Amino acid sequence: MYCFVTYSKGKTPRRPGHKKASTIDKDPVGVYCRIRPLGTEDEECCVEMISSTTIQLHAPDGLKANRNGEYKETQYSFKKVFGINTTQIELFEDVAKPLVEDLIHCKNGLLFTYGVTGSGKTYTMTGSPGEGGLLPRSLDMLFNSIGPFQAKRFVFKPDDKNGMEIQNQVDALLERQKRDSQQTVPKTPSSKQRADPEIADMISSEASCKSENVDEDCCYSVFVSYIEVYNNYIYDLLEGAPFDPIRPKPPQSKILREDQNHTMYVAGCTEVEVKSTEEAFEVFWKGQKKRRIANTQLNRESSRSHSVFTVKLAQAPLDADGDHILQDKYQVNVSQLCLVDLAGSERTNRTRAEGSRLREAGNINQSLMTLRTCIEVLRENQMCGTNKMVPYRDSKVTHLFKNYFDGEGKVRMIVCVNPKADDYDETMLVMRFAEMTQEVEVARPVDRPICGLTPGRRYRNQAFRDELTRRLEERGGPSNADDPVLLAQLIESLPALPPSELVDAADDQTLPCLIEVLERRHHIRQMMTEQFNKTANTLKSMLQQLDSQLSAKETFLHDQRSKLGEKDKIICSQTSEIERLEKKSKTLEYKIDILQKTTEMYEQDKRSLQHELETREQRLQRELTDRRRMEQCMQGMVTDAKLKWEKECERRVNAKQLEMQNKLWVKDEKLKQLKAIVTESKKPERPSRERDRNIAQKRSASPPPRSMALPVHPMHRRSHSAGGEKWVDHKPASNLDLDTVMQPIIPNAIKVSTPNEKALSKCHKYVLRHQELASDGEIETKLIKGDVFKTRGGGQAVQFTDIETLKQECPTAPRKRSTCVDNLEPWGNKAYQIGVLCSTVCHLTILEVKKSLGSTHEHISHVIGNTLTDHFLCLNLSKMNSKKVRSAGLSMFLTVFSQFYTSSVVITEE
Ligand code: ADP
Ligand code: MG
Repeated sequence: MYCFVTYSKGKTPRRPGHKKASTIDKDPVGVYCRIRPLGTEDEECCVEMISSTTIQLHAPDGLKANRNGEYKETQYSFKKVFGINTTQIELFEDVAKPLVEDLIHCKNGLLFTYGVTGSGKTYTMTGSPGEGGLLPRSLDMLFNSIGPFQAKRFVFKPDDKNGMEIQNQVDALLERQKRDSQQTVPKTPSSKQRADPEIADMISSEASCKSENVDEDCCYSVFVSYIEVYNNYIYDLLEGAPFDPIRPKPPQSKILREDQNHTMYVAGCTEVEVKSTEEAFEVFWKGQKKRRIANTQLNRESSRSHSVFTVKLAQAPLDADGDHILQDKYQVNVSQLCLVDLAGSERTNRTRAEGSRLREAGNINQSLMTLRTCIEVLRENQMCGTNKMVPYRDSKVTHLFKNYFDGEGKVRMIVCVNPKADDYDETMLVMRFAEMTQEVEVARPVDRPICGLTPGRRYRNQAFRDELTRRLEERGGPSNADDPVLLAQLIESLPALPPSELVDAADDQTLPCLIEVLERRHHIRQMMTEQFNKTANTLKSMLQQLDSQLSAKETFLHDQRSKLGEKDKIICSQTSEIERLEKKSKTLEYKIDILQKTTEMYEQDKRSLQHELETREQRLQRELTDRRRMEQCMQGMVTDAKLKWEKECERRVNAKQLEMQNKLWVKDEKLKQLKAIVTESKKPERPSRERDRNIAQKRSASPPPRSMALPVHPMHRRSHSAGGEKWVDHKPASNLDLDTVMQPIIPNAIKVSTPNEKALSKCHKYVLRHQELASDGEIETKLIKGDVFKTRGGGQAVQFTDIETLKQECPTAPRKRSTCVDNLEPWGNKAYQIGVLCSTVCHLTILEVKKSLGSTHEHISHVIGNTLTDHFLCLNLSKMNSKKVRSAGLSMFLTVFSQFYTSSVVITEE
C-alpha cells in the first residue's frame, strides 16, 4: 500500500533542469558587510556605519590633501552591515544559519568572504579559540540537527564521479571492519597533539544551535573536503600522504571535471565521512595544518590562496518499516555547502611580492579579476537580457563556482572591511564590487519532492520495539522463560504427585493413583495449552486490530499532515497577502497623508479667498451706497436744473409774450396813427400833408440808422448826447432785469412802465425798452425810439424813428474786427480782443491785450485814463497768465468802461 515517488538523482549542486526560465524564482546574491575593529585605538578610521544596511567611506586626511583637498564621501548599502561589536554568533545567526537549514533540506549553498588581507576574512570564516567562526558553527549546527539520524559509516559511499552510492548493512559492516583493522594505532584524544584547537575551544556548548525541522525518516551522512587554490592550481588539503618535511614533494594539483549533471567537481578529491562536529573540525584542522606547512615550505604567500571547505550532506529515506535505509541509489539526495575564504583582494604591489611569488600572486589576482568579470557579465546578462558568455573557465575558482551562479542555490558573500586609512583605496574597490554583486540573481533552490512513504516511520518502529520489550517483560516473556522460580511456581500449581514407591509387586494402588494424577496433570496441561492458544489467538487478533487501528490512525495522520501542509501553504499565501496589503495600506496611508496636506493647503486658500471675497463685498457695498448717495445728489441737481430751466422757460415765454404784446401795441399805435391820418386827411388842412409825406418818406426808409437819433453815440460822451432833449423811458413791467454792465443810461428821462399822456407831454423823445428772445436763445433788448409831437387834437403822438438792438453775446464765437486790429497795431500781437458792439448804430470796438503789459487794478485805471481821448481803451493784461485772472481783469475793465458807454459788450478770445 505504500507508493514511491521517483525523484531526481542526488547531485552536487543540483541544476535547475529544463524548467522554463519564467517559472524560476530568483534571489539576489546576499551581500553582507562586516567591519572589524581598528588595530589600535588611535588609528585613523575611514569607514563609518551609518545604518544597519549602509556604510560611509571617508577619504583619509592624507589622501584628501593629495587630491587637492577634494573631499569625497561615498555610501554603500548591503543586505546588512555588521559593526565592530558584532559577535561571531550574531553573524552566524544571520548569515550562515539559513544556509545550514538549506543544506539539511537538500539545498546547496555558497558562502564566501571577500576583502583585503587583514580585513578579517579568516577570522570570520574560521574564528579563533573562544570565538569560533562560521565554519565550526555550521558544522556544530549540522551535527546537532542530524545527530541521532546519522547512518552508519560506509552506508553512503561517494563514487569517483561526484555521485553517491548506497551500500547494504553487511557491506558497510565489512568495510568498517576492514578500516578498523588498518588503523594500527588506535586514535585516542590523549595521542593527539593538544596544540590543535578543538571544537570545544571554539564554541561554548550554550551557543550551539540546531535545526528544528529535520526529516526524521531519513538517514544522513556528512562528508567534508578541503581544497586550496593557489596560483590557479587546486590542491587537496586532506590527501592521505603525509607531508615529508625532509624531502618535500611538490604537492600534486587536482583538476576540475564535470559530472553527468554538468556539475563541476575536483576529480579525485578526498571526501572524509565525519560523524561529529569534533571529527569534522579535526579534519578541517588537519587540512589547515597541511596548508600552513606547505606555505612555509614552498615559500608561498598565504594571503594569496583561496581555501574551499565543502560540507556534503547525503540523505536517503528509511524503508517502509522505518527500520533500514531504502536501498535505492536514486533516492539519495546530496546537498553541499561551500565555505570559501578568498585570497586578499588587494593589488599585488601591496604585498611587495617578488619574482615567482609575484607571478603567482598575479595569478591569484587574476582569479579574483575573473570573479569580478564573471559577476559583471552575469549582471549585464540579467539586467539587459543579453546572452554574453560568462568567463567561468578563466580561473579555477570561478569554474568551481559556476554551478552556483548558473544552477540553483543560495549565494552569500561577506565583505570584510578594515576601517584603517591605509586600506581606503582598496576598500573602495571592494565596496564597488560588493555593490555590483548584489545585483546578480541566482535561481532559488526548489523544495525536495515529498517522499511517498508514511512519515514518522522511524518513531513508529522505535515505539513498536519499545512496546514489545515492555510487554514481554510484563508477561515474563522469552527473556525470563527459563526462570526456575517461575517454573517451580507453575509446578506447584499442578496436583501433587502421590508417593510412587513400589514396595510390593502386588501393589495395585500406587500405580493407578499415579496414573490418575498424571492424567489429571496431563488434562490440566492440555487445558493450559488450549488456554494459551486461545490467549495467543486473542492477542493475535488484538494485535491485528491494533495494527489496523494504527494504520487507520496513520492514514488519518497522513491526511492530517497533508491537510496541515495545505493549511501551511494557505497560511503562507495569506501571510504574503497580508504583507502585500500592509504594504498597500502603508502606501495608502502615505497618500492619505499627502491628500490631507493638500486639503489643508486648499482650505487655507479657500479661507484667504473667502476673506478677500468679504473685503470685496464690503467695498462693493460701500461703492453701492456711494452711488446711491450720488444718485440722490444727481437727482437733486436734476430737479434743481429742471426747476431752473422751468423758470427760464417761463421767463422766455413771458418775454415772447411781452414782445408780441409790444408788437401788437406798436401795430395798434400805427393803426391809431393811420386812423388819425385818415381822419386828418379828410380834413381840409393841406400844409400838414407836406410834413406827413416827409414822415412817410422817412419811415419808408426806416430802419436806416440815423446818427442824430442815437441815444448813444460811440464818438460822443453821453452827457453830450443827452444834452437838451427830454426822454420818456418806457420800460414795460414784464421786462427782465438783465445784469449786463452795458445799460443805456438816459439822464433826465421820465421812467414809465406804461406810456401816459402826461409824461409824453413833457418830453420830446420817446424810447421803448422792448425785450425779445433772439434766435440764439439770448434775450435781445430793442430800444425803439421815436419823436413826440403834439397832435392836433391836443394829444401826444410818437413817431418812431429808430430801433437799436442791445445784445449780449457769448465770447466763444470768435470775431475779429480788422479795423480794430489796424488801430491796435502799436500793441503787436493780441491775445484778447474786447469789443463793445452797438448794433447798427453804435459800433465801438476796443481792444486790447498784450502779454507784456502790467495788469494791476491801478494800471488798468491809468491806462483807461490815458487812452480814452483817442476812443481806444486799452487794457493791460500782461502777466495775467491764468484765464481766471484775465477774466477778472476784463470784468474790471468793463465796469470802468460802462461808466462811459452803454452798449453790449462782446468779448472774444482769439
Ligand atoms: P584576513 O583573513 O582577511 O587576512 P584575518 O582574519 O587574518 O584577516 O584578520 C587579521 C587579524 O585581525 C587577526 O588577528 C584577527 O584576529 C583580527 N580580526 C579580524 N577581524 C576581527 C574582528 N571582527 N574582531 C576582532 N579581531 C579581528
Ligand atoms: Mg586570511
